[in-house]
Amino acid sequence: MKILISLWAEARKQKSLALLEPFRYNVNALAQSVATFTLFTLQQILSDINGACESALIKKIDMKELIVMVDALMNELIANSNQDPNPLLIENDKPFDMLESKDNTKTAGKQARKPYIVIVDDEKSSGMAVAALIGEFNFQVDYFDSIKAFNKAAETKQPDLVLLDIMMPETSSEQVFDYASKLTQRGVKVVSYSSLFSLEMRLAAVRAGVLDFIVKPMSILGIIEKINRVLHLQKTRAYRVIFVDDQESMGEFYQTLLEEADCEVYYSSSVEDMFNKVDDFYPDLFLLDMNMPDVNGLEVAKIIRQQKLFDFTPIVFLTADEQLETKLAALNCGADDVISKSTPPMLVVKQLITRLGRALAVKDFVSKDALTGVLNHGQIMEAALNSYRLSRRQESDASIAMLDIDHFKLVNDTFGHSAGDKVLSGLGQLLGRSLRTTDYIGRYGGEEFLLVFVGATPSDALVKLNQIRLAFSEMDFEAKGRRFKCTFSAGIVDLAGNSSLPHAINEADQALYASKEGGRNQVKIFSS
Ligand code: GH3
Ligand code: MG
Ligand code: MG
Repeated sequence: MKILISLWAEARKQKSLALLEPFRYNVNALAQSVATFTLFTLQQILSDINGACESALIKKIDMKELIVMVDALMNELIANSNQDPNPLLIENDKPFDMLESKDNTKTAGKQARKPYIVIVDDEKSSGMAVAALIGEFNFQVDYFDSIKAFNKAAETKQPDLVLLDIMMPETSSEQVFDYASKLTQRGVKVVSYSSLFSLEMRLAAVRAGVLDFIVKPMSILGIIEKINRVLHLQKTRAYRVIFVDDQESMGEFYQTLLEEADCEVYYSSSVEDMFNKVDDFYPDLFLLDMNMPDVNGLEVAKIIRQQKLFDFTPIVFLTADEQLETKLAALNCGADDVISKSTPPMLVVKQLITRLGRALAVKDFVSKDALTGVLNHGQIMEAALNSYRLSRRQESDASIAMLDIDHFKLVNDTFGHSAGDKVLSGLGQLLGRSLRTTDYIGRYGGEEFLLVFVGATPSDALVKLNQIRLAFSEMDFEAKGRRFKCTFSAGIVDLAGNSSLPHAINEADQALYASKEGGRNQVKIFSS
């Protein structure tokens, strides 16, 4: 887009037919790259611009007329590209999970809208109990004992997710699955919720668009994890994608689409520039064009595969070349996938996002070493919940702390993402060395840690955490031949005396926020 604007601005200023050529060339290149997509409006505008330019080139219209026409069309393009999402780039309705920002899991206080969950289950007492438990985890929940009862309520308010019992006395399971697929078609996510689940039923469920299943009884954390997964609420950082394609309009197009799907994208038309950037940006996925003027994409893939740092980083080719040999050659060079440029763009994005999710899970798993002893999100929640229950039963002390690295984005931006990762593992190791073996350390989200201090009051935890804070602020990190230091802020809250774990986490988060507000590099105990 920027290129089109500057080329048009130049041609317009100089009133030059010669300058019209590169402009028209780029308009056509963009039109070609979207030709297979169902972006009718965008195609129409581009073709109108091209038509106007042609008329001017064969002198059917003069420069003045051309400027009036193209200005109007360019304005339409620009106006649309300023809207978020760009209406010209929407093929059809976007799925719910693409609309949801990855950030909406920010804990309670900061969250805009609570996801709305409905449980339909004929077993009243357990259904209501589970609904209440889920409600504690910052969801809005309603319980219904039959589809009929739910149906009435659903007319006014559409849930994000329905946990649907598929074995109910009044309804046959066929009817239930029928209903499930109706819900799915309306964009409601459905998870089946039953005590029995045969393969036959699982097949029927999959065919009805049911996304997952919960076999009763399941621990509340297990249920929450499923809900988070299905609604894409698990707190993850933005995926980083490097994209190289010599055609800049293509680059801009996919950059926009991927950014709308919450990816960070570094686009370059030059392979050399990409290799200069690669350590800093530390991508989670390489998206490469196959045919570029100076280099062959296959060679680029080979060079990437020679670097140990990117052993687990997928390489995906985007190519117009549909030949089988080309695909085989790409796979032989260490590529993970070859996607045709004629694939609908939303599908390309979906494919990339899926691959990114898996790649990051693998990366996390493999890099466990670096963050030894640090539990993942699910594990730390489990540990915290058990500690909560135990401390209540034994009337013993327990506290939790939420910890967040200060200005971490700045570290990434200044020293590169791999340096950021080193800071994370440095902190993980320091925490592991400093806490008692009976305490728990977990990575709550990207750069946030949740700590459980077993047998400690908030003031005990404060003393300990302040020692760690000082030690961390004195640690030296090195990147790009420069040394730097980092700090963290934290919030502590009493766990044992709290009304629930999610409530405690929320308060720890508020205390953390107060530490940030208070100037960072500090630890505060929650006070209301
Ligand atoms: P604040 O002091 O307010 O916490 O500022 P901040 O910059 O630390 O906070 P912000 O939430 O704006 O940015 C957090 C950054 O942490 C953004 C995200 O890309 C980065 N991040 C999250 N997880 C990881 C990771 O695993 N590795 C690296 N390198 N960066 C990560
Ligand atoms: Mg943060
Ligand atoms: Mg931070």
